[in-house]
Amino acid sequence: VHFGEEDYTRSILAVPLRLGDRIIGMLSTQSYKANAYTTEDLYLMEMLAANTAIAIENTRLLKEVQWLAITDPLTGLFNRRGFFELGQREVERFRRFGRPFSAIMMDLDRFKQVNDTYGHAAGDQVLIGLTGRLRSKIRDVDVMGRYGGEEIVIILPETDIQGASLLAERLRSHVEKTPIDTDRGPIPITISLGVAEFKSSIPDLASLLDRADSAMYVAKQSGRNQVRLYTDE
Ligand code: GH3
Ligand code: MG
Ligand code: MG
Repeated sequence: VHFGEEDYTRSILAVPLRLGDRIIGMLSTQSYKANAYTTEDLYLMEMLAANTAIAIENTRLLKEVQWLAITDPLTGLFNRRGFFELGQREVERFRRFGRPFSAIMMDLDRFKQVNDTYGHAAGDQVLIGLTGRLRSKIRDVDVMGRYGGEEIVIILPETDIQGASLLAERLRSHVEKTPIDTDRGPIPITISLGVAEFKSSIPDLASLLDRADSAMYVAKQSGRNQVRLYTDE
């Protein structure tokens, strides 16, 4: 195999990057001189390749571990830690550039009853199905996280409270419309949602989520399966 100008390359030394019995790449060098490489060069390249393969694998594993540290294994959503890390960026963007953003907090209605009726495994499937359903309605830039057991929070960059409440209502009706398929059959569910927009008077992300949470509490108190906005009054 030739790399670059065929006229000039006279020697190539290439060694595979091996991880166990897998080949994950190749390390190669070339020269304008004929017969440029010796057996010793080959050994040296093989040693380099062995170290390179390990370094690449370590980086991949580290990425994986970092990913696992910020995601929830059941739903694949960000966990609290991941969610707060990403949400913090929105707080900074607000402070530096005045970009608006909002949060939606939601909780499944009477979910304990779902577990009691259909079992915890079916309950888990409902959570997974719900996540997929929500994901199909939000944007890639939105950050969705598992806040508590069956509480899900979404951070919406570049979105004011009107935009966020429109989305919240769309999510609510989308969830209500069709039961979620599980091994125990389709299970109908509804969600209650609270919406709040970040303001300069709000000290941090946790306080924004508290506001969304208290709006959600009002939605629960008012009969569930509804959206409520946090207002200052
Ligand atoms: P409501 O929110 O409408 O007031 O009623 P609820 O029955 O949903 O009450 P609450 O939100 O307090 O209950 C949370 C329930 O969610 C309790 C627990 O059984 C269930 N839950 C939390 N996490 C999980 C989970 O990972 N899997 C399953 N299957 N159930 C969970
Ligand atoms: Mg609930
Ligand atoms: Mg709850």
